[in-house]
Amino acid sequence: MAKKILAEFRLMAVVGLLLIPIGLLGWMFVNKSYNDIRFARQELVGTNYLRALIPIYAKLIDSETPTQEQIRAFEIARERFDTVLDVVQLASSVENAIQGRVINFITAKQMAKTLISQVGDKANLILDPDLDSYYLMDAGLLNLPELMAITSELTEVTASRANVIDPMRNSQRQNFLVGMINQKMESLNSAMFKAFSGNLDGSLRHQLADGFKDFKIATNHFLMNTSPVGTSKLNTKISPAEVYENHRTYTAQTLVFSKLTFAQLDHLLGARISGFITQLVYSITLCAVLTLAAVALAISILGRLLTRMDDKIIYLAHHDSMTRLKNRGAFSAEMITTMEAAKITGEKIALHLIDMDNFKNVNDTLGHQIGDGVLKCLAERLLKSTRPADLVGRLGGDEFVVLQRYVASEEAATAFANRLVKAIREPMTVNDQVIRTTISIGTAICPNHASTSETMMAYADMALYSAKAAGRDQTSIFTADLEAEVQQRRRVEEEVRRAVAEDRFTLNFQAQYNSDGVKLRGFEALLRLRSTTGQFIPPTVFIPVAEQLGLIEQIGTWVLNEACLVASNWPKEISLAVNLSPLQFSGGSVTAIIATALKNSGLDAKRLQVEITEGILMENTDAVLEELMAIRALGVSIVMDDFGTGYSSLGYLWRFPFDKIKIDRSFIRALEDDQVGAQNILRTIVSLGHSLQMTVTAEGVETLAQADFMNGLNCDEIQGFLYGKPVPQEDLSAIILSSFKKSNGLDKKFAKAKLTTKLKKNASVR
Ligand code: C2E
Ligand code: CA
Ligand code: CA
Repeated sequence: MAKKILAEFRLMAVVGLLLIPIGLLGWMFVNKSYNDIRFARQELVGTNYLRALIPIYAKLIDSETPTQEQIRAFEIARERFDTVLDVVQLASSVENAIQGRVINFITAKQMAKTLISQVGDKANLILDPDLDSYYLMDAGLLNLPELMAITSELTEVTASRANVIDPMRNSQRQNFLVGMINQKMESLNSAMFKAFSGNLDGSLRHQLADGFKDFKIATNHFLMNTSPVGTSKLNTKISPAEVYENHRTYTAQTLVFSKLTFAQLDHLLGARISGFITQLVYSITLCAVLTLAAVALAISILGRLLTRMDDKIIYLAHHDSMTRLKNRGAFSAEMITTMEAAKITGEKIALHLIDMDNFKNVNDTLGHQIGDGVLKCLAERLLKSTRPADLVGRLGGDEFVVLQRYVASEEAATAFANRLVKAIREPMTVNDQVIRTTISIGTAICPNHASTSETMMAYADMALYSAKAAGRDQTSIFTADLEAEVQQRRRVEEEVRRAVAEDRFTLNFQAQYNSDGVKLRGFEALLRLRSTTGQFIPPTVFIPVAEQLGLIEQIGTWVLNEACLVASNWPKEISLAVNLSPLQFSGGSVTAIIATALKNSGLDAKRLQVEITEGILMENTDAVLEELMAIRALGVSIVMDDFGTGYSSLGYLWRFPFDKIKIDRSFIRALEDDQVGAQNILRTIVSLGHSLQMTVTAEGVETLAQADFMNGLNCDEIQGFLYGKPVPQEDLSAIILSSFKKSNGLDKKFAKAKLTTKLKKNASVR
């Protein structure tokens, strides 16, 4: 997943980097088109100005006053020319020259040249010889005004011929001007030719060619009638009026041609501008499209990324990260929906609650990594064994669950559960280690057993409990009997809650004797609960319930205080043993609670023994060890209860500071069935305890034979119905007194019994 996200980010970065050149390129395109348009516009403004200027110029050359219309057109052009091109100085000098009519050939020519070059500069005229406009400009702006100026001079010279002092010189001047005109015509010709050879399109070219033809004819005509062709004509008498008339015709034709040229120029520049505009539009469109595409791409990538992250978050919220199965919440939710639907369709659904057998052992002995591997493998096998419609989840720890859909019958559900058990039984290979593990399954069926998800869970849990109780590695399906158990359990829960609220617990005490059964050593406090209906509920029933309800700490504290208070009234040599639940250690305050009980009662800590079972040592061993040390530091003795029923007793015995071990009742009872085996075990336990300097107590001694055997092993203490059942506080003084009498030989009946025991013992030794 993380890799995928990284790849997406990389892609995004690449797209982002691509965006930069695309953007730059697009911007360059747009910018270029924009500038092209701006320059072409300026060019147009410049040519318009010149176009307006030329007729005025023509008039001025001939010392005539330009018409109002011409001046108006010029002014309009100049204004635009000025605002766009900012050639104020030039423009105003031209204007002044026009107004003062001081313009002459030289200045006119000069002005034309300056104007052209300045306008060219300012207007950024594209003086690209490949463009038609360049040649038209050359023709219209440079050659035509010069031609006009020269022809004007030629007209003057010719018209004043009669009056000149030196006709020869005059004639030479005429010839020179004619030569100039021919030369200008030549270059005009070549400019037009070049313009035509360019891209001028059909109708433009024809119009212009016709105009040029007319202009050439007019020029020829002007030359024929105005200037002497050869010296012979020098003497020809032409009236000045005729000369001027001829010149006017020529000028008119020139202006027509100039107009045409400018019209073409306008047209060309207009076309160029619209071309540039199209180019600009294309550039902007392209740029926009590319940018949009890039942005859209970026957004879609980002969107996909976010959706994927969303998906991942949702996935994580609904799945167990290790096995990728549905977690408890998601499973429950889906189970509820499925059951709702099943109510309508009549579908049968089986809930299989799965718990690994002794998973804690796997974790403890092989490490958590292997433990995780086993859980993953188990999840995989469950998935493989189920159909797609079935729902597989992990409720936490080593608890899994399968919701089997479309179940035909209870038998089918059980068969399926058995298949699961079998599938898990196959050896697993985790980190090159072959591991064998088993599961137990409890099954409940909807609607056969229950119709709500809570009840289904509770019933499947019941069934699972019974599968475990029956020896694990098997399945069990819910039955009505189990339901009775559930109800019974509910009742007990209620009783425990009420007993806590109403302070209805009581204590019984069971005597513990020297192994000869004579000397009273102490009493073990045992909790009693009389139900609201009057019967006693056994502690083996209500204590686990209290533990599960989280009430055991409160109850245990009461037991400690009450027992210490009672014991504080006993003779000083009589000890008190109190049972502690493993859960009383989870709070971390048990030492303080014991200390308080001692302090409140005034009981000497040396007289108190706390009995714990091996169960407490299974988890958090270091913390528990610390707590046990602290309790011991108070002066209290630590007793291992039910010794032999848990796991690695030897290791715990070695590590923990026990003062006493109590051999579990089951070993004593076994003396009846399997004489030799039980005897050997008991002998071993007693000698083990002694070699570790611990007192050894035999629990549950009911017969004289058992008592004798334990006595023979040198067991230190005996506790059991043989010498006394647990009794209420009121009966204790009698027991204490009786023991006192017996151990001091005051009780005759007992003395006799004692003798019998002794004889028997001797017999067995023999
Ligand atoms: P335990 O600590 O092993 O207590 C001894 C149990 O064996 C007592 O059962 C006692 O009545 C019974 N017993 C004693 N001698 C004989 C005998 O000769 N034959 C037979 N069959 N049973 C005998 P009880 O009082 O029902 O208590 C059962 C268990 O409940 C206790 O086992 C202990 O684990 C737990 N328990 C009792 N009181 C408390 C308590 O105050 N706190 C905690 N945490 N657990 C308690
Ligand atoms: Ca006990
Ligand atoms: Ca016990």
